[in-house]
Amino acid sequence: MTRKQIGVFGMLFLCVAFVHAEEIAVKMSSGIKIRGTLESVSEDGIVLRWMGREKKLPWSDLHPETIYEIRRSRLDSSSAEDHIKLGDYCAENNLPDQAKKEYQAALKLDPTLRDKIEQAIGKIPEPSRGRSAPKKTKKHEPAPKVKAAAKAPGEKPAPPPKQMTQAELMVAGAELMKKMHEDPVKYYNEWIRLQKLHLKQVEEKLNFKFFTYETDHYIYHSTMSPAATKKISNGCEDLYKKMSKVFRIEKNDLLWAGKCIVHLFETEQQFIRFAVDIDGFDAGSARNVGGYFSHQGRFVHIAIPKTSRGKKGFEATLIHEGAHAFLQLFNEDVFIKPWIHEGVAQYFEHNCFPNEPEWAYKKATLRSNRLSLSDLRAAKSFIGMDAMTMNRYYSSSWGALDFMIRANPKKFVKFIRALKKGKTEEEAMKEGFHCSMREFELAWLDSIRKSR
Ligand SMILES: [Zn+2]
Repeated sequence: MTRKQIGVFGMLFLCVAFVHAEEIAVKMSSGIKIRGTLESVSEDGIVLRWMGREKKLPWSDLHPETIYEIRRSRLDSSSAEDHIKLGDYCAENNLPDQAKKEYQAALKLDPTLRDKIEQAIGKIPEPSRGRSAPKKTKKHEPAPKVKAAAKAPGEKPAPPPKQMTQAELMVAGAELMKKMHEDPVKYYNEWIRLQKLHLKQVEEKLNFKFFTYETDHYIYHSTMSPAATKKISNGCEDLYKKMSKVFRIEKNDLLWAGKCIVHLFETEQQFIRFAVDIDGFDAGSARNVGGYFSHQGRFVHIAIPKTSRGKKGFEATLIHEGAHAFLQLFNEDVFIKPWIHEGVAQYFEHNCFPNEPEWAYKKATLRSNRLSLSDLRAAKSFIGMDAMTMNRYYSSSWGALDFMIRANPKKFVKFIRALKKGKTEEEAMKEGFHCSMREFELAWLDSIRKSR
């Protein structure tokens, strides 16, 4: 894994092209509804694109009504047997109307099955008033596999879940987010509560032993030793202080909701499992990154394995991803181009670890192989570049932002604030530095020449 792939991955989801897929309303097993596009259906569950991200939802998280709709849309409508199977599923899962509909469809297709079907219709249980709990489907049946929430016949309906699934947490979070604009402080505790619920859910899903540790602005959720975790936590709070100072955080500025969650992993395997099972990465991509930050709305987390670039590299990755998270959620959550994102992340990384050998290499690239601002600005993503090209993009981004922040931090913040209000880069440059992009580029070039 190269150094550069690390940071850029944090932004990957912002740049993924939209693939046309079917839009559906999904009812979760607790009754909460979300709308998204159905990307795929498999034995394990569905992949839903929701709030800009792909979310894997296991069948056990879905309400039988939704499972029924999905199965029905994929059923061979000319097969009486398929209609009967689906009818059986509905009968077992407190969907009597749907069960009747499917049995009747089967009967229409094959009248010789009348006796069998009438018997099945007679056996449909009365609807229970509580939340219907899905039952295990038979093994030989294709998707979906429904597990966990099964209940025996005659048992009382299951009480509402004490836990929320990750998707439901996101829904609750989205609701809170609206309120957060009114009064971020008021909802702070509710955010922390939701975040801890989420962490519990992660633990249950992965079944690793986690150590949780809180500081003022971060929650560490770590499979590393408590001592190592606590030691690492100092770096993040220092970064927070530095960034708050550079960004001149004011009382009403928005950042992430609650605290920023930092998942730390003792082994790479644990990190990969987290990336795949919790964040929906494919295993190949997870293996290729040394860490990433991810956010849905203002619900943000960072994930890093201990093995990321050795000891120094690990801490530097933490600072790098932490800076991305801060920049992305500082005030409005808008798309910021990678040259600015990577420039800011590296500025803080360099500030914290100035003696790493990579900076000398980057300085050399700036002198001999710098990219122009217009080249930098044209890149919508640094992903997929070869190592040499990527190095030019990263080095040049760092150079430009380092120059901007050092030239005049007050003007830099004005520039960022303008971008966050939706202004173009050119407009933001005018507002912050009172010059055009071209004039800024000339000043930057001049500073590189003088530094030789
Ligand atoms: Zn980055």
